[in-house]
Amino acid sequence: MTTCFDIGGSFIRHGELQADGTVAEKGRVATPGSDWQAFVDAIADCSGPDGSPISISLAGAFDTRSGIADVANIPCLHKRPVQSDLETALKRPVAITNDANAFALAEAVDGTGRGKPVVFGIILGSGVGGGLVVNGTLVTGYGGIAGEWGHGPIMDPTAGGQLKGIEHYPCGCGQTGCIDAICSARGMEKIHRSLHGLDLASKDITAAWHAGDAAATQTLDAFTTLLSRALSAFVNTLGPDVIPVSGGLSNDLVLLDVIDRKTRDLVLADYSEPLVIKGEFAANGGLHGAGIVARTLMKEAAR
Ligand SMILES: [Zn+2]
Repeated sequence: MTTCFDIGGSFIRHGELQADGTVAEKGRVATPGSDWQAFVDAIADCSGPDGSPISISLAGAFDTRSGIADVANIPCLHKRPVQSDLETALKRPVAITNDANAFALAEAVDGTGRGKPVVFGIILGSGVGGGLVVNGTLVTGYGGIAGEWGHGPIMDPTAGGQLKGIEHYPCGCGQTGCIDAICSARGMEKIHRSLHGLDLASKDITAAWHAGDAAATQTLDAFTTLLSRALSAFVNTLGPDVIPVSGGLSNDLVLLDVIDRKTRDLVLADYSEPLVIKGEFAANGGLHGAGIVARTLMKEAAR
C-alpha cells in the first residue's frame, strides 16, 4: 500500500494509491507548522503499514543537489533535507515532489495535456509557480528549478509606459520586481492599492471587475497585461502545447480567458486553440501528481 500526501501550509491531505492509478482521498489534518516531531507523527498517523512507501507533494522548492527544502510557510521543514530526514524518522521510502511539479505531472499524464509533448503547468494563486513536463517526464533542470517562472526580476510595472503609480514590489525570494510579486493574487491586491489606494482581497477585486467597476477594471487590465507579457516569453522559450492552470485564480474562467487571449496575441506561434486553460486537476493536482510519482517509482523498482 502506498500513501500519497498533499502538504500545504494549512492542511495535510492524504489518500491511498489505487490499482487504477487514481488516489482515493482519505482525509485531511492541520499541518503542524513549527514542530518537527509533531509533523513526523502526523505523517506516520496517516500512512499505511510499517515500512510501506509514501509519496508527498509539498508546497516548497527543493535543491535537487543538496536536498535542502525552501518551505517558508512550514517553518519546521525550512532549510531541512526533508526527504532524507523523513525516511530516517519514518523508516519507510519517501518520495517528495514540489506541488507545481506534481500538478504539471497530473495534467501531462492524465489531464489537459494527455498525449501532448510539452506541458507547462502553472500556479496562479497566492504566489506564482510552475512545472514543465516533456513527453510525460518531469523536467527538473539544474538544481531543480525548471518551470519556476515566478522569480527573476524581469517585470516592467509600467506595462510599457501605459501605467503610472505601480511600484517595483519586493519579492519573498529577496529580489525586487519578480513575476511572483506582481502576477499573483497578492500582486493583484498590491496593484489595486498602488493605483487606487484601496485595500481589497483579490476575490473582491475580481468580483468588482465582473460587476463593471472602473477602478477594478483598470487593475485587472494592468494585471492581465503584466502577466501575459511575462508568460509570453516563457511560451516562446518552451513551446508548450497547453498551459493548464491551478491555484486560486484558476477558478475565474473569465480571467483565464483574458490571460489566454492576451498571451496568444503576444507569442510567435499561431495557437488556434486556447492555450491557458483551467487544469483538470486544479483542485487535486498535488495528490494525483504524488500518485504518478509513486507509480513511476514502482515501475522502476519492478524492472
Ligand atoms: Zn522572487
